[in-house]
This record gives sequence, structure tokens and C-alpha cells, in this order.
Amino acid sequence: MLIVMRQSASGDDVKKVIDRIESLGWEAKPIPGEERTAIGVLRNPGATDPALFLDIPGVREVIPVSKPYKLVSREMHPEDTVIELGNGKVAIGGEKLVVMAGPCAVESEKQALAIAEEVKKAGASLFRAGAFKPRSSPYSFQGLGKKGLEILAKVREETGLFIVTEATDHEVCDLVEEYADIIQIGTRNMQNYRLLRRAGQAKKPVLLKRGMSATLDEFFMAAEYIMSEGNSQVILCERGIRTFVRHSRNTLDLNAVPYIRRESHLPIVIDPSHAAGRRDQVVPLARASAAVGIHGLLVEVHNNPDKALSDGPQSLYPEQFAQMMQEIRGMNIAV
Ligand code: PEP
Ligand code: MN
Repeated sequence: MLIVMRQSASGDDVKKVIDRIESLGWEAKPIPGEERTAIGVLRNPGATDPALFLDIPGVREVIPVSKPYKLVSREMHPEDTVIELGNGKVAIGGEKLVVMAGPCAVESEKQALAIAEEVKKAGASLFRAGAFKPRSSPYSFQGLGKKGLEILAKVREETGLFIVTEATDHEVCDLVEEYADIIQIGTRNMQNYRLLRRAGQAKKPVLLKRGMSATLDEFFMAAEYIMSEGNSQVILCERGIRTFVRHSRNTLDLNAVPYIRRESHLPIVIDPSHAAGRRDQVVPLARASAAVGIHGLLVEVHNNPDKALSDGPQSLYPEQFAQMMQEIRGMNIAV
């Protein structure tokens, strides 16, 4: 339920509404807007009688929120959420398409710095690379761990690029929160509710990847877990879902984008690299993603993909990445 106040409502009126909600044992979430304040009601069991609030001065309207994902829903928060990094240097969810690029994994300081320079030159705003890798095989490279995070901090220092990197579990999240600008939750962890709650307590934005077989309702509920802990800075990331096809690693669900934008106020980013799983499809999918109307792209780039310790076959060469950026600019999209 959403209680919308009149423009003329005073702070005291808002407080009365909050007190009433809390006296019923529920939670109040004030949502200040440009023109008026609204107050979300959370943890109320089922349908609630609007008459409980209509007698309070300053209340204009009481709107039932029908979705189970209340904080994620646009019903509760009509304006797009914009997430700022570095005091507005980068804004995710606004007019500009924000590009996050880099290798799948941090392999060495030299590799990370070299790729970071390339993606920066081409116009990326964030550097992506995993220090803790969730690999399908226990025998594959698992990432450099804390050393990888230290390298990422160096990359930020030397290039000014912001850092997005994955937290694979609850303990790793403590470290990632310390080093990263954005905490990534991977597809395999989209329903790791303990980790989602931990990310919800973090003071950094969270990039939440859609589970590879998750419906959008499940995706929204995962984001709701993060937001229900108090972190409203959530970025949704579509990265392809598992289907029967063999011509790509996953299938990029472009239909999800207009649906997400209609249902939720959160920014939406697409990862064409994990959707494709092969280099030749990444740029066309990136163009299609930009055209469908997203807030950002997450792209894997490697300077020596044949020798990459993970996801080499889907990593763009730096020149291809620069070309991709040119093509997107050519679509009249600000990057
Ligand atoms: C990644 O971004 O490198 C990654 C592991 O992605 P996903 O969780 O989408 O597989
Ligand atoms: Mn990868």
C-alpha cells in the first residue's frame, strides 16, 4: 500500500501517518518526491483498509500495491532510480548509457592495467573483472582472491575507472564491499538469500544478475531481498537465460527489458558477453541492447583472449570493443 500526501502536507502530517503505520505493527517507508511525499507500507499482511489512513490530515490518496515486490515496483516509486558514483561523475539509470568493461577475471596487475587503459580510452566508465570466480569446474581458475581486489584498487587509482566485481559468498562480500564501487551478485547466486541480505546491508550499490533460469518475478523478489535490508541502490542485469539452443551459450532475453522498465524503477543493464558465449555475437547483441533502451552494458574484453584464464572465447579484443562503442555512438545514443 502506498499513502500519497498532498503537496501542502506538513512534516507533522507525514509523521502522523508513520506513527499510525507503526502502531499497527507494520513498517513505514517514506518516499520523498519532487512534488509530494508518499509513504510505502511494508510488512502488512494482505489487503489493508484505506480508511485506516484517510482521516489523517494531508493524506490525498491511498493506493493498494498489488505486487509482492513492493520496493522494486514502480507502483511504489514512479520515477526512475538513478545511482551515482563519485558524486555524480557516473550516473546509472539516467540518460547516458554507462559501459562497464574488462576481463572475466583479474589475472595479473599487468593484464588488468593494460585492459583498463584500453577500455577507458574507448569510453568505458567502469572496469569489470572478477577476483573471486564462481567456476563450473573446481579445477578451473578460481580467481586471485584478495590479491585480485588489491589489483582492482590499483586500477581505480591509476585510471579513475570505477570498479565492479563479484561477491561470491557472504564472507567475500565483506572484502568486496571494502574494495569495489559496485558489488556484483552473479547469476548462480541470485537466489542465495543470505548473500542477498548481506548485500542489502552494504553501503555500496549492488549489480544483481538474473539467475540463468529465473522468471522476472523471481528476479524482482531477489532484488526485493536486497532492498528490504535498506539498500535501495540496486541495478538489475540481464545476462541471458538457459534455453535449448546450441548456437549460443545462453539466450539474451531482450523482451525482459521493456517489461522490467514498466514494472520497476531500477536501472537495467545488459551483459551480452555471457548471453552469447562467443565473440562474434557480442557486438550485435550490444547494439540490440542499446536499441531496446537500457541504462548500461557489461562487456568482457581481453587483450589476449586465447590465453585468458576464463571466458576467453566470448571476450572482445580491445579494438572490437572500441568499434562497438563507435557503433553505439553512431546510433545516436550517449555513452
Ligand atoms: C561474470 O560476470 O564474469 C560472471 C560470472 O557472470 P554470470 O554470473 O552472469 O555468469
Ligand atoms: Mn565471465
